[in-house]
Amino acid sequence: MRILCTVCGKKAVIGKTDRLSVALTNLYCSCTDPECGHTFVTNVSFSHTLSPSAKTATEVVSALARALSPEQRKALQQELAF
Ligand SMILES: [Zn+2]
Repeated sequence: MRILCTVCGKKAVIGKTDRLSVALTNLYCSCTDPECGHTFVTNVSFSHTLSPSAKTATEVVSALARALSPEQRKALQQELAF
């Protein structure tokens, strides 16, 4: 991932990362142009889902299956067996 200095547009390097959550990380950056010397914080954040996680789908199905009565669960098992 390339970070550019927000003042001069030259390449910047990431010196430190601070993960605030799984969806947000702060990047402490320094401009590589010695005549600029700008240091700044930029962040990388989650935007939106394009395709849901298979892990989430499995959890949802498991939670729904647990909410069924024993008879409904048995009917579902028979349905899935075919
Ligand atoms: Zn700069």
